[in-house]
Amino acid sequence: MAIVPVSLQDAAATAYDVIVIGGGHAGADAAAAAARTGARVALVTHKVETIGEMSCNPAIGGLGKGHLVREIDALDGVMGRVADRAGIQFRLLNRRKGPAVRGPRTQADRKLYRQAMQDALAAIDNLDIIGAPVEDLEIVDGVIRGVITGDGTLIKTGKVVLTTGTFLNGLIHMGTVRIPAGRVGDAPALGLSKRLYGLGLRLGRLKTGTPARLDGRTINYDGLDAQPADADPVPFSFLTDKIAQRQVDCHITHTSLETHKIIEENLHVAPMYSGQIDSTGPRYCPSIEDKVVRFNDKAAHQIFLEPEGLDDHTIYPNGISTSLPEAVQEQFIRTIKGLENVTIIRPGYAIEYDYVDPRELLPTLEVKQVPGLYLAGQINGTTGYEEAAAQGLVAGLNAGFAAKGQPPFVLDRADAYIGVMIDDLVTKGVTEPYRMFTSRAEYRLTLRADNADQRLTGIGMHRDIVGVDRAARFNEKCQLLSAARELAAGLSLTPPEAAKHGLKLNQDGRRRTAMDLMAYPTITMAQLVPIWPQLGDLRSDIAEQIEIDATYSGYIQRQTADINAFRKDEGLSLPIDLDYDSLGGLTNEIRKKLNDTRPLTLGQAARIEGMTPAALTLLLNVVKKGTGRKAKPATATAAP
Ligand code: FAD
Repeated sequence: MAIVPVSLQDAAATAYDVIVIGGGHAGADAAAAAARTGARVALVTHKVETIGEMSCNPAIGGLGKGHLVREIDALDGVMGRVADRAGIQFRLLNRRKGPAVRGPRTQADRKLYRQAMQDALAAIDNLDIIGAPVEDLEIVDGVIRGVITGDGTLIKTGKVVLTTGTFLNGLIHMGTVRIPAGRVGDAPALGLSKRLYGLGLRLGRLKTGTPARLDGRTINYDGLDAQPADADPVPFSFLTDKIAQRQVDCHITHTSLETHKIIEENLHVAPMYSGQIDSTGPRYCPSIEDKVVRFNDKAAHQIFLEPEGLDDHTIYPNGISTSLPEAVQEQFIRTIKGLENVTIIRPGYAIEYDYVDPRELLPTLEVKQVPGLYLAGQINGTTGYEEAAAQGLVAGLNAGFAAKGQPPFVLDRADAYIGVMIDDLVTKGVTEPYRMFTSRAEYRLTLRADNADQRLTGIGMHRDIVGVDRAARFNEKCQLLSAARELAAGLSLTPPEAAKHGLKLNQDGRRRTAMDLMAYPTITMAQLVPIWPQLGDLRSDIAEQIEIDATYSGYIQRQTADINAFRKDEGLSLPIDLDYDSLGGLTNEIRKKLNDTRPLTLGQAARIEGMTPAALTLLLNVVKKGTGRKAKPATATAAP
């Protein structure tokens, strides 16, 4: 279903509950989420045809990021379903490691992804889509009243979700060339940046980069390793039964010493090294210049040659993002095996942009100082499509719920990776583009990609933001799981009986259930089916799930105790307007950190970097006595 854009004239005559600015990854999931709350929503973006555009690598998911996509899907968000329609090389990363750290990932066909995202949004009844640049926000007495487009049209609303990505004051660098842009081919957002500065928000500059795009027909694949897709593609969405898209190979090549020599000889024209850029880029996704300088003992760096689409010859060389001048790019790329005669379709570049210090936000992603204004995505200092979409989901839900007078929607660190990310952002701020890793989550044995639906879909159903199809599927799955758990818990044998089936157990006379047996790292469900054939009748996803549950059961019991302790501290609320300046006993450094973050709970205060036990004891006393508030109440409503 194609999008039928709404005219500015019609939009100006409508009062929307929520307006989302930006049709990238944060914007799409924000608009869809706000609409699921029942709010009347408009998505205003520069160009309707670029909704769902992947600005950089054509891939969704990966370690940590795949968990986010599953969680978005579990709350009925759109990213997972769209990726399933557009995925052309599904791979479950870390397949040989435990389920807690497995990460679903797919290479995506850029065009199909855009199309599938536009179809998904077009199908939402209470969502209008408008193609126009937003130049400013209408704010009266500190409260959001609407958005103003480039031609001066006012579109009225009480809630705005700003998801402008790398567009705020965006500046492209390629060698010494500098071009104001939001990404290549798109104008930057200057008016909105000015407005955010004017509101007194703390803003900073970050940078990211992208590699040149190559013509696959001019690559010599002979002698390069092929990386095939998984034979049994694992979808992102709990609603997808089977991946229908044709799957393709990626190829792997490497830089050479000659490549490194050319890069080193040209560092004086690399914006990061010539002093032209001094903002920070993503440490875990460095440019090739960075890699050559930082790891100069390495003789080669790996490059994945990733197809951008099924009927597209463009290849994305993952691993050589660069802002060197175009001529130098051509020179060093041709020293790479297989790329000796390659045609470059478009050179790589770096982009610098403004971001808002996420400590300006509540966990709902509402700006503390500006009620009704929510921020999501790269604007909050993150990098990546998945991080953006996950924030979009939370900001969109909160904007929608707030418009309807309903309570906020906040996930904590024990609920979801989404909760981990947002807590990290609003508590610690960022010093470099933030991306998700499984190591950021304390409770990762519980927060698995495989159980995202069991963790979150029930919460979504309770808030009425989950469609009927998903709810029906989820209920059916829960029933099957509980029957399977009952079955497995009711089947047992003694150690001598187990020995007869080749299973070695302590001869302690204790009967063990099928669940107990699967907790052993050496015993699988497949080994139990010959003993109890009824286990073989379980639906494959149900059998897999209870096998995972059994494997983790001991660890999870221990983790549950940790989660209970965490939630106890989260239950101790700190007033958002606590007057830290009047609290004796705090060092100036701690006082500044508390003022910068304004934690909402004692637990959140404890997670601020550099927080001391003495300061926490003092805060605990404040909580207990209920003292220390400022005379005037804060403007924004704190999440519970
Ligand atoms: P975007 O996807 O950028 O979407 C912003 C949207 O807002 C666009 O639709 C735009 O048209 C719209 N918009 C902006 N201003 C206005 C306005 N004033 N009025 C109306 N509409 C507006 N991520 C990685 O994980 N790894 C990488 O290596 C990486 N490299 C990147 C390289 C480049 C050059 C760029 C540009 C991005 C890169 N990213 C990378 C980041 C990735 O693209 C973003 O993280 C992701 O797209 C962020 O999603 P978003 O929704 O916040 O913003």
